[in-house]
Amino acid sequence: MSRLLVIGCGGVAQVAIQKCCQNSETFTELCIASRTESKCIALKEKLEAAGTPVKLSTATVNADVTEDVVKLIKSYEPDAVLNVALPYQDLTIMDACLECHVDYIDTANYEPEDTDDPEWRAIYEKRVQEKGFTAYFDYSWQWAYEEKFKAAGLTALLGTGFDPGVTSVFTAYAAKHYFDEIETIDILDCNGGDHGYPFATNFNPEINLREVSANGSYWEDGRWVETRPMEIKRVYNFPEVGEKDMYLLHHEEIEALGRNFPGVKRIRFFMTFGQSYLTHMKCLENVGMLSTSPVMFEGREIVPIQFLKALLPDPASLGPRTVGKTNIGCIFTGKKDGKERKIYIYNVCDHQECYKELGSQAISYTTGVPAMIGTALVVKGLWKKPGVFTTDEFDPDPYMEMLNEYGLPWVVDENPVLVD
Ligand code: NDP
Repeated sequence: MSRLLVIGCGGVAQVAIQKCCQNSETFTELCIASRTESKCIALKEKLEAAGTPVKLSTATVNADVTEDVVKLIKSYEPDAVLNVALPYQDLTIMDACLECHVDYIDTANYEPEDTDDPEWRAIYEKRVQEKGFTAYFDYSWQWAYEEKFKAAGLTALLGTGFDPGVTSVFTAYAAKHYFDEIETIDILDCNGGDHGYPFATNFNPEINLREVSANGSYWEDGRWVETRPMEIKRVYNFPEVGEKDMYLLHHEEIEALGRNFPGVKRIRFFMTFGQSYLTHMKCLENVGMLSTSPVMFEGREIVPIQFLKALLPDPASLGPRTVGKTNIGCIFTGKKDGKERKIYIYNVCDHQECYKELGSQAISYTTGVPAMIGTALVVKGLWKKPGVFTTDEFDPDPYMEMLNEYGLPWVVDENPVLVD
């Protein structure tokens, strides 16, 4: 029995909300709130027509403004807030949760919308010097809320999507059941799906293109090693998908796993990209279309990457046209009972199966299902403790069980091919 406020109604949110409705014993009442309320109303009508027992309502909110979120929380009085809007809103929503005394859950760590903001930039430059990676997003902003959430007796669960999210749960599961010591972790994110467009991103284009056009980095012997964008390429033969090119990227769970599993010697993250995607992205970057700095165009200010977003297909619309499978997981090496061990834990998800079930493609599906699971564990009290946490900091077993139950079954391969 719980009352949940979901902020955002895009690709990921639509899956998370539909999955909450499949788990109606846990989520009895749910408010869908976003900037564009018409999307929330359309989803509510779809779910009601399908006969959901969850009592649904909708609202409009500008989550960039803490007072707006506070007003909404005070009027709806939820037990928890699931933020599936954008990373730009993480801090305003966390502030509102603290003010209204409710638990907070999200799927992506904070990054600023305006990376030219001098106040943010000064803190960023200092972090780049101290930590040694240049990505715009990092956990420091949200980890800074630790004492406030602890003192309030509230839980903030950060990054409960697939990666980050499930990949960190896989790590906690491997550490609990398979290893005495984990030595290396390779996180492999393969999207073998084809949507038939020359170029489209499978989640929010602005966030996605910022992430993949940035420098890569990995964690080795307690420090960051940074690479140029797409500098490190490997080829891997993914179960149920086949052979794909994959590239080393910076990714947020490396930061949390490096902190929480200090004995691990190396943590890397690889994502697959086709040559056509990379060529399009390079071209857009070269002409300035990935820039987040405003430019004047015919007398008005526009942000190039936001304009590009308006031209690209809406990720939520890719569902009907995307065929193929994703395979996301982690390869671990280490020791158990004095012997060398290696395992690969992964999930395979079929784009068309996701579309048949919920009308979405697999990227939104693989993120929205874990968003529901993390939220369910917090509201049921199984993952509730005061402070700010990532998904590797709790007992992984109930989460792993729910992945099987809610559409993301996983496999443990005890003799995988390693990435060199
Ligand atoms: P979308 O762009 O599809 O949806 C974002 C939603 O947030 C939209 O409904 C949008 O409203 C709403 N929104 C944006 N700004 C505001 C605001 N100021 N106030 C209220 N609502 C707002 O994004 P996705 O669904 O693809 O991604 C959602 C989140 O999931 C992102 O944070 C993304 O980084 C994360 N993610 C995490 C992954 C993981 O594995 N951990 C993988 C993929 C995504 P409107 O309709 O008006 O635009």
